[in-house]
Parts: sequence; structure tokens; C-alpha cells
Amino acid sequence: MEGAAVRLLRGSALLRRHVPTCLSSWKTPPRVLKSSQSAALLGVTDHGPSCAALQMFTEEEMMIKNTVKKFAQEQIAPLVSTMDENSKMEESVIQGLFQQGLMGIEIETKYGGTGASFFSSILAIEELAKVDASVALLCDLQNTIINNLIRKHGTEEQKATYLTELATEKIGSFCLSEAGAGSDAFALKTRADKKGNYYVINGSKMWITNAEYAGLFLVMANINSDLGYKGITCFLVDRDTEGLHVGKAENKMGLRASSTCPLTFENVKVPETNILGQIGHGYKYAIGSLNEGRIGIAAQMLGLAQGCFDHTIPYMKERIQFGKRIFDFQGLQHQVAQVATQLEAARLLIYNTARLLEGGKSFMKEASMAKYYASEIAGLTTSKCIEWMGGVGYTKDFPVEKYFRDAKVGTIYEGASNIQLNTIAKCIDTEY
Ligand SMILES: Cc1cc2nc3c(=O)[nH]c(=O)nc-3n(C[C@H](O)[C@H](O)[C@H](O)COP(=O)(O)OP(=O)(O)OC[C@H]3O[C@@H](n4cnc5c(N)ncnc54)[C@H](O)[C@@H]3O)c2cc1C
Repeated sequence: MEGAAVRLLRGSALLRRHVPTCLSSWKTPPRVLKSSQSAALLGVTDHGPSCAALQMFTEEEMMIKNTVKKFAQEQIAPLVSTMDENSKMEESVIQGLFQQGLMGIEIETKYGGTGASFFSSILAIEELAKVDASVALLCDLQNTIINNLIRKHGTEEQKATYLTELATEKIGSFCLSEAGAGSDAFALKTRADKKGNYYVINGSKMWITNAEYAGLFLVMANINSDLGYKGITCFLVDRDTEGLHVGKAENKMGLRASSTCPLTFENVKVPETNILGQIGHGYKYAIGSLNEGRIGIAAQMLGLAQGCFDHTIPYMKERIQFGKRIFDFQGLQHQVAQVATQLEAARLLIYNTARLLEGGKSFMKEASMAKYYASEIAGLTTSKCIEWMGGVGYTKDFPVEKYFRDAKVGTIYEGASNIQLNTIAKCIDTEY
């Protein structure tokens, strides 16, 4: 890890220093909270190791968090508004993520990855989302879903080929949803028919994030519909494979810099060596990866809510009405305090779930709770921030309306809020 850490630090040292102004406009990053500048904490006392508080990080985690914060503020913040307006991720941002080692955070160093922890990915996603949730989503999907599926289920050959590319240059897309298979994802109709050493994929997918820029697609297709969901198999499909078509990106309300496209498969020939893991285990891999992915989406929602809050509070401390700062009105102070408490609660749910995962404990219920709660809180926080800023909050001259638009999808993708509640209830059912 030392090599990657040094690389991360070296990368960040080259970045231009950018001092935020109080009345944050589009081109400035959110203000940094004084309380978030505390030192790294290792959970080690004079009397030996102790259970650390959830917001105590290892040196490695702290270094990655600080490096990502600096990268996001200096290299992404100036481009956020343009990327949103143009519905286009800047190439420099994508390259920056790769150069900083943020597209292969957990990938082992022997494959060119950073070799850091899952928790570090969560901190990176949170920091990126404070500045731009679309960039955070790119980093999140690559790390928590694509890379981890291949790390866990890939053959040595697949790992050597794909992990190396994913850590350094290639974006991956996860292709599960279809027009008729959203919450009921395993009702998917895309099929893969065996022909000698090949499978031939036919069908279509919807809502595929990063498809515009992706070089690799992890495609869930059924090899025998008589088997139902037990026929679902995961295929590694290269972008230039004949018969794979990426459709026009959706014109979305938020996350506009993140491409979300339909895909069609017309007799797409994939060698059987490109099956990921076992035939018929695709549904298990999808469930497992989405459980992890939900922690990432929760971190994305938390980050964007915190970023929005950090933009808004300084404004409230400057804006004078009735001869006072609007922050001084108790009616507003109580709302601010409630939102800050909810953000803190979301953060603890997310960090605890990530620590459970790293500790090899069960975390399915907690991941659903974290994703459900963080996305609800993100909607509430961003809506309140617009209200607190009054008319200017409603304009595109300030970034809070974008955070509001970006937040909404948290209650929809990687399992809508009702689906998270179903999972939580199912887990509770087994506990009593
Ligand atoms: C921006 C974006 C990016 C996405 N990226 C990807 C991607 O990269 N890869 C991918 O495979 N998919 C992706 N998706 C798809 C996403 O996962 C689905 O949109 C999501 O699973 C919901 O499916 P649906 O849109 O069909 O809604 P539906 O399933 O039609 O749900 C509509 C409503 O019905 C409710 N509902 C459904 N079933 C139940 C139930 N059993 N009980 C109670 N309520 C229920 C839901 O909560 C929701 O409120 C993306 C979607 C979006 C919007």
C-alpha cells in the first residue's frame, strides 16, 4: 500500500491550491468544516488497542480522504457546473480519477491498483460527492461493484487482464436492469445461448450507468429461462464486441454528467472463458455486489448532502434580514440542528456497515438501512438548504439546486427505498 499511498500524495501535492470564498459560487468547493479537520486516529491508547469511534480513521484512510478532498476541490469543483449543463463528464476528471488511483482502490497492487480498504473507497466516494455526485457515482460503481465482482469471482487470467485495465484506464458498467426488470431484477429477459465454445447474447438493458464511457460491460443474461433466476449468468463483454450497441444517454433530472444509457445485444458472441464465476450464479453475484454497492450509494448521498449543507451554512451566517444574520433566528437554528443530527446519524450507519463488511460480519440489513436512511436524509437536507438560502437557492447561480436534483435518484437506484425496507423487514423477520 505504501507505493500507492505515496502516489496518491505525490499526485495531490502537484495540485493548485484553491481557497474557497465564503459566499460559495459555482466555481468554488463547499467550505471545509472546522470539525472535519481533526487528526487521524488509530484506536490505540497508552494501554493498548481500543475500539475506536466510527469517525476515527487509520492513517491510510485519513490520507486517502484528505487527498480526495483536495483533488475534488481543486480539479473537479471548477468543472461541476459546465459538466452539469453539458451533460458530459470532462475527460480530465476521468483521467484524474485514474491518476489518483481512485478507480482501483481495493485492487491489489500487483494488478496496478491502490491496494487500500473498502472503508477507504467509502471515504473517497463521500468526499467526491461533496463536490459532484456524478463523479462519485463513477468511482463508486467501479470500486464497489465492478472491481469487486472480478476480484471475488474472476479467474486468474480474467483478473490479470481486466483488473489491470480497470485500475489504470478502463471504466466498467454493471448491466442488470431491463425495461421489464427493475425492482424485480431477476425477471430479466436477456438470454445467452450456448454455441460450441461461445455464448450468443440477445436482448436489451436499460439505465446502464457510465455506458457512454465504459470499455467493459458486466452483463447478466439467462442461459436457460426454464431454470428461472438460477439460469442468470454474468458475462464479461468488451465494448468493441460486434452486435453490442450503446444507445443515446437518458436526459435526466440530476446526475447529468453521469451517462445512463440503454444497451442492445444483437447476436453478441462471447467466448465461454468470459463467464464470470459459475454458470447460473449471476443472481447471487448481483445480490452480493448490490449489498456492497448500497454502502457506496449511501456514502454518495451522505457526501452530497454534506456538500450542500457546507455551501449553505456560511451563506446563512452572512445574509442579514430584520437587522440580524438569518442564522440567528431560532426557527432556522433548530432546523439546522435537526439536519446536522440526521447527517451525523447517516454517517454512523454508513461507517458502521463498512466496518462490519471489513470485519467479515453480516451487513445486509445495515447496508439497506444505511442506503435507505442516507437517501431520505439527502432529499431532506438538500430541500431544506434551498429554503434556507431563499430565492438565490432556487437559481442555478449557486450549487444547492443541483445537489437537490442529484439527491432524488438515491431513493430509486440500486434498490428503491421500498425495496430496502423489504430487505430490512425480511432480516427482522429472521431475528425474532
Ligand atoms: C440514474 C440511474 C442509474 C442507474 N444505473 C443502473 C446501472 O448501472 N445498472 C443497472 O442494472 N441498473 C441501473 N439503474 C436501474 C435501477 O436500479 C432501477 O431504476 C431500480 O432498480 C428501480 O427499478 P424501476 O426504475 O424499474 O422501478 P420499478 O421497479 O418500476 O419501481 C417503481 C416504484 O414501485 C415500487 N416498488 C416496486 N416493487 C415493489 C415492492 N415489491 N414493494 C413495494 N414497492 C415496490 C418502487 O419502490 C418504486 O417506488 C439505474 C437507474 C437510474 C435512474
